[in-house]
Amino acid sequence: MIKVDGSFGEGGGQILRSSLTLAMMTNQAFEIINIRANRKKSGLLRQHLTAVKAAIKISNAKVEGDFIGSTKLSFFPSKVESGDYDFKVGSAGSCILVLQTILPALMLLNKKSTLYLEGGTHNPMAPPFDFLKNSFLPVLKKMGVDVEMSLKRAGFYPAGGGQLCIIINPIKCLSRVSINEFGDLLKIKPKIIHSNLPFSIASRELSTIRKKLNIDFDDRDCIEQLDSIGPGNVVAIDVITSTITQSFYSFAFRGIKAESIAQNCINQVNNYINIKAPIGEFLCDQLIIPMVYAKGSLLCSNLSMHTKTNIEIVKKFIDIEIEIKKINDVQVQLIFI
Ligand code: AMP
Repeated sequence: MIKVDGSFGEGGGQILRSSLTLAMMTNQAFEIINIRANRKKSGLLRQHLTAVKAAIKISNAKVEGDFIGSTKLSFFPSKVESGDYDFKVGSAGSCILVLQTILPALMLLNKKSTLYLEGGTHNPMAPPFDFLKNSFLPVLKKMGVDVEMSLKRAGFYPAGGGQLCIIINPIKCLSRVSINEFGDLLKIKPKIIHSNLPFSIASRELSTIRKKLNIDFDDRDCIEQLDSIGPGNVVAIDVITSTITQSFYSFAFRGIKAESIAQNCINQVNNYINIKAPIGEFLCDQLIIPMVYAKGSLLCSNLSMHTKTNIEIVKKFIDIEIEIKKINDVQVQLIFI
């Protein structure tokens, strides 16, 4: 039985989610202790428990320790089966992170799966719906996996209530992917994701982006009004190059000015353009497991703790060599051998 220490490295929910994913994909049992030990509120929260329940369901697993607050879990997967599944987080916790747990296991099967997920769809500290759609899924597409994803209703913290439908058209074996060029900068595309709040917030965010990034656009093309049960405001900026689309996000909080929310996202964009590595920090850690199966290479910005931790977790389950090649002070190449 593989032993995982949840306090290792980054020490958050990703260690648990990646362990679940890899256990299902390699059909190996694992035991994890100190779940989310480095977080303020350690142990399983609703979002993590939903990911565990989803993994149990799709892989007919046996499990011990699957309750809210649990800091220890044993997971014994059986065969992963495609199908029609329905998982609800039951809070504003991210349902995208639930998807992140089960998608890799469902993408390497014979039959398609249809998922219906409920929970948060635009959460800080998690990939927003649009990140998956614009940045993550296009790379999976390069690997040969076609995933259709539609947002029925947005879910923002604290109200939640988001709804997603996902169709996973699987493939038997992933194609090799190498993304090592920054390419030509084609477009910088802002979008204000907006729900149940005054329009003036979105206008002020767009004015800041127009001025600071020195780009022009029509405000009406850049505001996406979403149906949601609670209020929400997210500044999104897509950097589209000839290689890839990288999306950046900044989430509005009560008491923080619209201009500062926009500035935070602008800083991320400027940082990305200066570093000139096509794979940004978040995309990098999320691509580790798919890349282990696809093989190839990625040019990334310096590795985040999430990425370093994810690489070590992968090595616990799979005998694989991942070369980390320093290119310069800000770029690293990951080679999956
Ligand atoms: P954890 O903190 O361990 O629960 O993992 C959080 C996950 O969310 C990681 O895979 C991050 O890459 C991802 N994530 C956090 N913030 C963003 C963001 N702004 N855009 C995309 N992904 C994000």
